[in-house]
Amino acid sequence: MATHFDAIVIGAGQAGPSLVGRLAAAGRKVAMIERKLFGGTCVNTGCTPTKTMIASAYAAQMARRASSYGVTLSGGVAVDMKAVKARKDAITGRSRGNIESWLRGMQGCTVYTGHARFAAPHEIRVGDELLTADQIFLNVGGRAVVPSLPGVDRISYFTNSNLLDLEEVPDHLVVVGGGYIGVEFAQMFRRFGSKVTIVEKSPVLMQHEDEDVSSAITDILKKEDIYLRTSAECIHFEPRGAQVTVGVSCTEGDPEVVGSHVLLAMGRRPNTDDLGLDKAGVKTDERDYIIVDDQLRTSVEGIWAMGDCNGRGAFTHTAYNDFEIVAANLLDNDPRRVSDRLPVYGLFTDPPLGRVGMTEREVRKSGLPALMGTRPMTKVNRAVEKGESEGFMKVLVDAETKQILGASILGVGGDEAVHCIVDVMYARAPYTTIQRAVHIHPTVSELIPTVLGDLKPLQ
Ligand SMILES: Cc1cc2nc3c(=O)[nH]c(=O)nc-3n(C[C@H](O)[C@H](O)[C@H](O)COP(=O)(O)OP(=O)(O)OC[C@H]3O[C@@H](n4cnc5c(N)ncnc54)[C@H](O)[C@@H]3O)c2cc1C
Repeated sequence: MATHFDAIVIGAGQAGPSLVGRLAAAGRKVAMIERKLFGGTCVNTGCTPTKTMIASAYAAQMARRASSYGVTLSGGVAVDMKAVKARKDAITGRSRGNIESWLRGMQGCTVYTGHARFAAPHEIRVGDELLTADQIFLNVGGRAVVPSLPGVDRISYFTNSNLLDLEEVPDHLVVVGGGYIGVEFAQMFRRFGSKVTIVEKSPVLMQHEDEDVSSAITDILKKEDIYLRTSAECIHFEPRGAQVTVGVSCTEGDPEVVGSHVLLAMGRRPNTDDLGLDKAGVKTDERDYIIVDDQLRTSVEGIWAMGDCNGRGAFTHTAYNDFEIVAANLLDNDPRRVSDRLPVYGLFTDPPLGRVGMTEREVRKSGLPALMGTRPMTKVNRAVEKGESEGFMKVLVDAETKQILGASILGVGGDEAVHCIVDVMYARAPYTTIQRAVHIHPTVSELIPTVLGDLKPLQ
């Protein structure tokens, strides 16, 4: 016998629980199915634990630099990984527990723990139960890619999920992948005291960023004695006693790096391969992401896909915005769309990178008539006062419409300061709105009007 619901939500990630809350409040009978940890990737193995541990790494780094601020510490700096992990576990555990108890106590919501799979377009099997619903919402997220590189099946490696549970500082962490996740982990573990090498197959780290951004990040990492092996066209693995050999080059330089621990940070893939999507007729693209329209409807009527599994975003804020879009369309008669969203994200190295809109590379490619303003962080009083003046800011403006096209702020507080640009872009206001605004002194944001007052044509 099947149990019928008005709606079934699969995955308690960053969109599902909030949608359950809205649907239940609207009087719908809802089933929430989660197979593992409430809160999904962000809360358990992504944003929250990494940013919590990055805070520990920052504290270690500031302690090492204390004397440059006139602060004397007696004794050296040591990192207690068990205590770092315990702090991380307390913060993630609280967050996970809050989500789970909220859902379990919610009137109109029945929580199922287990792996959900389609049996038919509107039928879901979870354990021994069969559930049916008129509306089904997929929020199944993604997981780390384990590439089929030679030897990978013969070594023990880490992904973002289990590296966060180490209780000792690795002697030598080899991070395979120089993108956002790899770079954050590399700096974090270097600051905990590990030797760190990043192995990246493309010629640069953070290859999706502009060249000046990616090279400034590279310099910051090199200054902390993080080793880089870019253009590693020949990555393979081999166990060597308790260590692992990572082959990096078949032609020049040292052919291999030997590490005590290997982190695979080579991208993410959607959790769509074990959902029985074929039973429902839900279409996916060539990379297994669920195909959705601008309002997140899948190819099957009555089934929606939100968050990382639809390939329309790879962040917590995009997953949450997907919830807002679906809820607005279904419950508020408000036709919100994915295409209304601006690309915005952060890289949480120290200093962080705040990004919005187009990169300089994209602007150049578009052929738009553009103006650009840049300033190094050494011109930001607050950064100098804090002793954290690495990086720079860059803003691109459409010369005709005067609207801001994009910005990159790599520097202390850049992840926060970028939001004054984000908001003006959403308001579709001209850049002069910020240029004429009076910002608080001394802040990082205070230099943005100055940058906008000195724009030059993009050559
Ligand atoms: C190391 C790391 C750091 C990150 N840092 C940031 C950051 O700083 N900022 C940011 O914005 N983003 C960050 N992200 C990305 C962010 O975590 C994800 O974009 C976000 O969690 C996506 O949310 P989601 O709801 O789509 O999926 P998820 O959070 O992955 O949730 C999906 C849920 O579905 C469940 N599930 C899957 N399949 C089934 C099934 N068949 N049956 C039942 N349940 C199922 C899973 O168990 C999971 O709980 C980071 C990611 C990583 C890996």
